[in-house]
Amino acid sequence: MADCIFCKIGEGQVPSYKVYEDESVLAFLDIHPCADGHTVVIPKKHFGEIGDVKDNEWQDLMRGLKIAIQKVDEVLKPAGMNVGINNRKGAGQAVPHLHWHIIPRYEGDGGGSMHSIIRNRQIFEVEEVAKRF
Ligand code: 5GP
Ligand code: ZN
Repeated sequence: MADCIFCKIGEGQVPSYKVYEDESVLAFLDIHPCADGHTVVIPKKHFGEIGDVKDNEWQDLMRGLKIAIQKVDEVLKPAGMNVGINNRKGAGQAVPHLHWHIIPRYEGDGGGSMHSIIRNRQIFEVEEVAKRF
């Protein structure tokens, strides 16, 4: 997509430090890393968010993501990794091209788990929310 920085990186028009690449995905080092080896995995095709990906497109993306995760693991040998998507602006997505963050975690790094993203919103009881599904 014109004017999309991640499309440009995926096409090689903008340089990046490559971690892994196949036909469907490109994984590269984040320019402002939260930790050593913070990696961004993008589909080469432009999707804005999770809901834009068709059912039959997930398999190739997930395979690429898994291989990228394994590469980070093998090379940097972190204690663990947080893997996730900021899906839409409301969740912190700054670049409107779907991408996964792989954030390696190291012993004593002081970081938290997924639960530390937000901890301050509980208006409804879980039972109330459950009724809506
Ligand atoms: P978001 O907040 O959209 O989930 O995260 C976008 C990520 O992409 C950020 O962590 C940011 O540092 C990274 N990023 C943005 N532009 C570039 C770029 O041009 N090159 C690289 N390597 N990373 C980028
Ligand atoms: Zn794009």
